[in-house]
Amino acid sequence: MSFQLSNLSSSSRGNASALVVDDGDARRLFLIDAGLSPRKTHALLAEVGLARVPIEGVLLTHLDHDHWHSGWLAAMPEATTVHVHRSHRGRADRAGLTYLRTNLFNDDFEIAPGVVVRPVLNAHDDLGTAAFRIEQRPADAAARPTSLGFATDIGSPTRDLIQHLQGVDVLAVESNYCPRMQLASNRPQFLKDRIMGGAGHLSNQQSAKLVRDIAPQSHVLLLHLSLECNTPDIALRAHDWTKDADAPACTIANWDGPTPWIDIKPTSNPRPARQAPLPMPRSLWDLTNSLPNA
Ligand SMILES: [Zn+2]
Repeated sequence: MSFQLSNLSSSSRGNASALVVDDGDARRLFLIDAGLSPRKTHALLAEVGLARVPIEGVLLTHLDHDHWHSGWLAAMPEATTVHVHRSHRGRADRAGLTYLRTNLFNDDFEIAPGVVVRPVLNAHDDLGTAAFRIEQRPADAAARPTSLGFATDIGSPTRDLIQHLQGVDVLAVESNYCPRMQLASNRPQFLKDRIMGGAGHLSNQQSAKLVRDIAPQSHVLLLHLSLECNTPDIALRAHDWTKDADAPACTIANWDGPTPWIDIKPTSNPRPARQAPLPMPRSLWDLTNSLPNA
């Protein structure tokens, strides 16, 4: 029995992760986001040992072009179910996505026997993004389920999000930008406002605080680093929880290739759950704007 995650590629050029659930009888492959072309996706799946393994389902956090590649409209196998949050229905209709086999979700749903996806909505742009707590329930009903938290393009973390993902075994979470690089970049002001304004992305510092608040048990995967306004070194320095003696392992997703497989398995010594704190300020941008004479 195994439950594993590999991020195939993550950046504003395209995001896709592979989730494999193996119950001994069958190995089931799911994508979380499909923002790379089908050809590129299949090439990266082959790199992680999944050549010709059928994609059973696709979980979409939202439908921005870096999370849903329109090339899949013609390439998605008929048997594959695309799971889309109900709040994205209008956009999914307009994109032609609902011609595929789709599941419009709002509540918890099962993707494989004993594997339940529990969604929660974040404030990203107008329609929000779905974050997931994906639980694999063990045969022994009294045992703790194994869990993966997946949250990207978060906007601003809410108490709901923190509570929803609290104590997961593995957490995949965006760590998009370094505020100093963002402010110094040549990007137009509207784009900086969009990214930093509480409905865009999380800075490294916001992401680090979110990791501390969620307190994942064994592993953190940092997603969606900005190519222009972040580097793996800068992100890692901001994630100060990595210096704790009992810190979970940390992997940083690449924009151009897959991460090693991350095992999602029960931790022998679960870290104690924390009290969910109040939501943090929406972003550094809000803070700077709320200063007198800013
Ligand atoms: Zn994105």
